[in-house]
Amino acid sequence: MPAARPPRAAPGWRGRATRAEIDLDALTGNVAALRAVLPPQAALMAVVKANAYGHGAVTIAREALAAGAARLAVATVGEGRALRAAGIAAPVLVLGAIDPTEAAEAIRQQLELTVGTEELLEAVADAACRAEAEQPVAIHVKVDTGLHRYGAKPALALALARRAAANPLLRLAGISSHFATADEPDVSFAAEQAIVLAACAEALRAEGITPETVHAGNSAGSLRRLFTGATVIRPGIALYGIPPSDAVPLPPGVRPVMTVRSRIERVFDLKPGDTVGYGRTYRCERTERALLVPIGYADGYARALSNRGWVGFAGQRAEIIGRVSMDQCVVRAPESVAARVGDEITVFGGAPEEAAPSARGLADLLGTIPYEVLTGVAIRVPRVYVRHGEIVAAEDLNGLTS
Ligand SMILES: *Cc1c(COP(=O)(O)O)cnc(C)c1O
Repeated sequence: MPAARPPRAAPGWRGRATRAEIDLDALTGNVAALRAVLPPQAALMAVVKANAYGHGAVTIAREALAAGAARLAVATVGEGRALRAAGIAAPVLVLGAIDPTEAAEAIRQQLELTVGTEELLEAVADAACRAEAEQPVAIHVKVDTGLHRYGAKPALALALARRAAANPLLRLAGISSHFATADEPDVSFAAEQAIVLAACAEALRAEGITPETVHAGNSAGSLRRLFTGATVIRPGIALYGIPPSDAVPLPPGVRPVMTVRSRIERVFDLKPGDTVGYGRTYRCERTERALLVPIGYADGYARALSNRGWVGFAGQRAEIIGRVSMDQCVVRAPESVAARVGDEITVFGGAPEEAAPSARGLADLLGTIPYEVLTGVAIRVPRVYVRHGEIVAAEDLNGLTS
C-alpha cells in the first residue's frame, strides 16, 4: 500500500469556514489494512455508532461496505433507522441494550439485536409475533464475561441462547462479549474473558445449537487477537485511523480520517495591557497579532482548551489566548508569519507539517481519549468528504444550511 500522505485542505470548499474534512481514501485504506492483518475467516463489522465516531454514519457506512466490511454496528435503534432510511440494506447490529418498548421499531427496521436479559428477549419475541415478520429476528446473546456493563452471566446467557434458538420467530445470529482491558498493557483479564465466551459457545455446540457468529473484539481486542474463536470482528476507532491506546499500535497504512479545519475570520493587533475574551483571562505583555477563528465549544472545541490549546497555522503552532467561547476562539499569530482573513487553520489532524495537534494530542491535553474528541465534534460542523484530494460530498448533519 502506498504510504499516502494526509492531504492538505482540499481546495474549493465554499461554506462555513469551520468544517471536518473526512478523507475517504484513508477510510478505504484503513479497512483494507485492517483486513490484511486480521484472520481471513472473520467478517468485518464496521462500528458506525455515534455518527461513525463523528465522521457521518451514512457516508462512512457506505464506504466501509464498499471497501470490504460485511456488517455494520450501531449503539441505538435510532442510529440503525438512519442507516435504513438512507437505503443501507447490510446487516446492522444494535450493540447497546435497547429499551423493550423499542423492540417493535427495531424489528420494523430489520435490525439485529443484542440481548442480555429475559425481559428483553420476551419483549422481542412478543414484538416479532405481533409484527408477523417474514424473517426471524436476529438475536445476539451478550455474555457478561467481566466488563459488568450489560449482558447476561454465562448460565443465563446459555438459557437465553437456547430459547432464541428454539423460537421460530427468532434466529440465534450470534453470541458475543466485550473486553474490559483490551487496550491496556496487561491483557490477562481479557484472556480470562475470552475463555468464558469460548466455553459458552462450546456448551451450546455440545447441545447442537450453533450460533451463526461468535464475537468479542473491538479494535484493540481484534488487533491483539484476544479471542481466537471470533468469526466477526468489531473495530471502531481503528477504522478511523486512531490507535485504541499506546499499547496497541495500528498496522502499517492505517491513518487518521478526520481533520478539523477552519479559516481566519479576523486579524487584529493587541498592545500591552489588552485582554482577550470573557473573564479577561489573557493579558498581553507586548504587541502581538491575534487571529479570530470561528470555532468554539458548541462545535465540540472544548472550553478547557482556553489558554492551553493550539491550532496549526502556516506550518506553525498558534496558541489559544483567552477563553474559548461558544462559537469562536482567538489564537496568537506566530511571529513573522503574515496572516490574512480567509487563511486556512488546522484545528486538529492534518499532515504533520500543518503543526496542529492530532486527535490523540488534543485528547491528552484535555485528559481524555480520542474517542471523545472525535465524537464531540458537534453536528453543526459540516462534514466535507474528500477523495483523491477533491471534495465529493458535504453533509450538514444538523439539517441546517451551513
Ligand atoms: C464501541 C464498541 C466497539 C468498537 O470499539 P473500538 O474500541 O472503537 O474499536 C466494539 N464493540 C462494542 C460492544 C462497542 O460498544
